[in-house]
Amino acid sequence: MYKKILVAVDLSDDSQRVIDTAKMMADDIGKLQLVHVVEPVAAAYSMDIYAVNISELQQEAINFAEKRLQELGANIGIGSDSVHTLLGAPAPEIRNLANEIGADAIVIGSHGHSGWKILLGSTAIKVLHGATCDVMTVHVGDEAKD
Ligand code: AMP
Repeated sequence: MYKKILVAVDLSDDSQRVIDTAKMMADDIGKLQLVHVVEPVAAAYSMDIYAVNISELQQEAINFAEKRLQELGANIGIGSDSVHTLLGAPAPEIRNLANEIGADAIVIGSHGHSGWKILLGSTAIKVLHGATCDVMTVHVGDEAKD
């Protein structure tokens, strides 16, 4: 039985399926921690010619993600100290956090926003490369709903 499971969610509709599967892997809800990584708003857009405040936009994205992640956690009884909203590149951030908290398993969806047809380069594969703990993929996507 795993002692600490890090569950990576992209906040899409499939997130619940990933969380539910992780829940089945733990005999105690206290063993689960959730993570979502907000990707930085591309530097290409941070030019003065666009009348957009990039840092405000970035903060809004973080606030939204934080709120949504807390809700997903609260739905199954995970406290706010066990949910992590990070900023950066998803795969390395997920791996680093798993190391930091001493997770012995990462649970992640097989597909996400990028669609079920894109296999290579998916976050799950990137997390797997270089992971120092078990990585379990939960089959999500169109065919998973059939
Ligand atoms: P994708 O690489 O977009 O196909 O997503 C595959 C899975 O990786 C998703 O189902 C999530 O479990 C996880 N994932 C994708 N993006 C993120 C993210 N920004 N933060 C945390 N987990 C993510």
